[in-house]
Amino acid sequence: MLSNKAEEILESLWVKLEEKKIPSATFEIMGLKKDDVSLKEIVSSGFCEIRSSALVFTDKGRKHGRDVVRRHRLAERLLADVLDVKGRLANEKACEFEHLLHAGIDDRICTLLGHPKLCPHGHDIPPGKCCARENKELKLVSPLSALSQGQGGKIAYIHTRDKAEMQKMMSIGVVPGMKIKMLQNFPSFLFKLGNSQFAVDESMAKEIFVRIGSEEE
Ligand SMILES: [Zn+2]
Ligand SMILES: [Zn+2]
Repeated sequence: MLSNKAEEILESLWVKLEEKKIPSATFEIMGLKKDDVSLKEIVSSGFCEIRSSALVFTDKGRKHGRDVVRRHRLAERLLADVLDVKGRLANEKACEFEHLLHAGIDDRICTLLGHPKLCPHGHDIPPGKCCARENKELKLVSPLSALSQGQGGKIAYIHTRDKAEMQKMMSIGVVPGMKIKMLQNFPSFLFKLGNSQFAVDESMAKEIFVRIGSEEE
């Protein structure tokens, strides 16, 4: 098993090389010294190789880095949407959590959260095997479109990067923390939001994620 520090190097390397597509992860860019203990650890365990003062992934290392990023971002969602931990504390805790959510557990958390695609900062969460299956398991957070009539909760987050759409939702009061309840799901989605009623189309209902059953809080 890798140390937490070594996992964090793999995580940061994955973000730099695979996501931001920087050409070369030199020690300087990585903020590492040649004799760093954790660096030696990831090289000797076969996760990375060193080529002209830069780190490159082995296949095993690339997969592991992606998994750590996935776990970190799932931990962020769990903290923000279910445990209501936000801000700096959330970031510290997400870093601790990612090391606890090991293989298998991350997919369960992902399922509970309704297979979120973005972390609270808007970064992609690399999908797991669970995300491909459409399952009916217990969920804590679910898209509005999947709720049954009478079911409700509080809006956890809105999954859209479209600014105009986000503004449109905010203008009708669709903001995280608002109480929402499904009144009718056919022929259109009608829901109660605070003290008013609104109808939305299916594509929008799929973008609004609700923390189920928290409406009485
Ligand atoms: Zn994030
Ligand atoms: Zn999933």
